[in-house]
Amino acid sequence: MRILIARLNHETNTFSPVPTPLAAFEPAWDEAAYRAQKGMRTAMSAFIEQAERLGATLVTPVSAAANPSGPVQAQAYDALCGRIVAAAPGCDAILLDLHGAMVAENSADGEGELLARLRAAAPGVPIGVALDLHANLTPKIVEHADVIVGFKTYPHVDMYETGEHAGRLLLAMLQGQGGCTVRWRQLPLMSHTLRSTTLNGAMQRAVAAARAAEREGLAAVSVFAGFALADIAAPCVSVVVTGAASPEGARAAQAAADRIAEQIWASRGQFVYRSEPLHESLARARQLAEGAERPVLLLDHGDNCMSGGTCDTMDVLQAALAQGLEDIAVGPLCDPQAVDELVRAGQDARVRIALGNKVPLASLGIARQPVVLSGTVRAISDGEYTVSGPTYTGQRCGMGRTVLFDTGKAQIVVTERTHEPWDLGVFGCVGVDPRAHRFLLLKSRMYCRPVFEPLAAALVECDSPGVTSSDYALFPFTAVRRPVYPLDAI
Ligand SMILES: [Zn+2]
Repeated sequence: MRILIARLNHETNTFSPVPTPLAAFEPAWDEAAYRAQKGMRTAMSAFIEQAERLGATLVTPVSAAANPSGPVQAQAYDALCGRIVAAAPGCDAILLDLHGAMVAENSADGEGELLARLRAAAPGVPIGVALDLHANLTPKIVEHADVIVGFKTYPHVDMYETGEHAGRLLLAMLQGQGGCTVRWRQLPLMSHTLRSTTLNGAMQRAVAAARAAEREGLAAVSVFAGFALADIAAPCVSVVVTGAASPEGARAAQAAADRIAEQIWASRGQFVYRSEPLHESLARARQLAEGAERPVLLLDHGDNCMSGGTCDTMDVLQAALAQGLEDIAVGPLCDPQAVDELVRAGQDARVRIALGNKVPLASLGIARQPVVLSGTVRAISDGEYTVSGPTYTGQRCGMGRTVLFDTGKAQIVVTERTHEPWDLGVFGCVGVDPRAHRFLLLKSRMYCRPVFEPLAAALVECDSPGVTSSDYALFPFTAVRRPVYPLDAI
């Protein structure tokens, strides 16, 4: 038995100016793809283990994942999909580890188009797919997959389990234990990432209903929050059920999808994030910092590189300084040009420099001037550190050359590459102890929280006009099917 197993992950923010060439995926091909995934905690690693237990021949054309950014370049998309599709003929089953919210320059439905090409290349071969909870489901994805299972957690901690679930169902099909059918229901609801956590609220209840339906006998029930920062027909919430391929099985699957979708729709207001004006957030932060013995976290979630942000907007820092906040550790701010100038100026140099705001946010019609600041180069580093915190423990991270620029009121970590503040190492690598500051300004939404929340007195979400802003009014949606909540009052 031959089983095709591949991984292709990208969450596309169609408004992001950050390009997505093939190199962004750091693709591993064939044998290297197998080695890269074997033993990891991903869906693909679960597929590998299951296929090996069966004694199957594994065909692993590619493992490729890129951080969220703009649409995948057409050449990259065709190269990645082409390798997967070329490997399909002659295989008995196909197991894919996909994100589900990929948009390419030449396809608004990245995963759906891949699946359609696979079906055409290998008709009749069953396809099982594991998807991220933030997948934007499409009719094509549903049509061309026999099994669909999504993560049930956000923050995501069940990638491996999701792969195991999808693989188990598909391999059971192969062993003659009956076919599967996929039924779904999509809602005209654009949820917000900060409202899709499964730790509380309406999303937690939706996932609980999905688990309950699985306990009652359905093969797989998945709630997809969708990824709203994509100008496609439906960057929306979906419920997808894999059931038995009998008329009763299909009916039961559809009924469960409808029931859970109705439950979500009834609480749709809870999937919406209402932004507070930035000056109010900062005024609140200032009050919270009074008398506090630990720093107050300012989360600039309008410019988060893990959702396609440029990591170089200056709005929150400027507003904080204008409101008189002091002793702010900021990081990481990505500005390779500034890093170069600061490194050339050298340690301890006094410098006047134009910082940030260098990548125009063309899709939002925003082009700002860099902010001119005077300060001292306090430290220069290679920007490398090893994660000591709970997310990716032990992993080596690199931010490119990194400089600590001290303006007196703000100590700014300036990097050559965009980087999520996973860990204290983003500050530690230039000698900053984040605990010793009054404020910590991080360009992050969710991932910084396990490390930085415990050391902070309070957390204040600061919205700003970047490509990951929470204010949907900033985004010129043209392809989204209307009406849709909350853009329209339905
Ligand atoms: Zn996700």
